Amino acid sequence: MNLIENLKNYFSTVDKQEKAADTPEGICPNCWGRGEWEGEYYKFKKGEDGNPSNATYNNFVQDVARQLDKITIDEYSFVCETCKIKVLHKLGSY
Ligand SMILES: [Zn+2]
Repeated sequence: MNLIENLKNYFSTVDKQEKAADTPEGICPNCWGRGEWEGEYYKFKKGEDGNPSNATYNNFVQDVARQLDKITIDEYSFVCETCKIKVLHKLGSY
């Protein structure tokens, strides 16, 4: 499981507006919604005129990943460190 890749997958779904985006793989859905990261992404895109360079985009994703440290679901216990919710769905489905 690679958080960076999961975030990129998630943001590309947001870009395509295929559906109301849910939660990136491996992230606590409870805490993710509270963080309003989707809004952060829109803000970022807007600041880059909708067309960020790869380097800028990678920096943004890494920045988000760093801040998600505490709401990443533990691969073995499936428990979110922050809200202690137990998440069973989706993990390891890739
Ligand atoms: Zn949580």
